[in-house]
Amino acid sequence: MTTVLPEPLSARIRYHLEGLRVGEIRITRCSVCRRAQLPPRSSCPECHTGEPFTWERASGLATIWSFCVFHKAYLPPPAPQPPYTVAVVELAEGPRMVTNIVDVDPHTLRIGDSVAPVFGPDGAPEVRFRPVTLRR
Ligand SMILES: [Zn+2]
Repeated sequence: MTTVLPEPLSARIRYHLEGLRVGEIRITRCSVCRRAQLPPRSSCPECHTGEPFTWERASGLATIWSFCVFHKAYLPPPAPQPPYTVAVVELAEGPRMVTNIVDVDPHTLRIGDSVAPVFGPDGAPEVRFRPVTLRR
């Protein structure tokens, strides 16, 4: 999927969120320097150009770039309950995103672990990640 979308930023964010609803991580790529971006921006942080950008569907492959384990609940369910992990994952395409790592004992995680996306239930526009290999 490659589509040029010269639209306002709010439309870009909406398109990205619509992607999450259908199980896609949609990123933009600068047409000048080819840097991939998430979230979509009105100008490229690398070469500072404006339009046009192309849309891509990220592969979903990612690695844990950083993480911490929370042992206190700051919000009631459905927010994550302790212990839970807040992580920065780096997509294979380059952009990093803040997320949660789920379906794992957070104390077994390591920086550099491979993770795959878990999309929100019932079309919720959210994505979390889980380890690619099963951990106990
Ligand atoms: Zn650029």
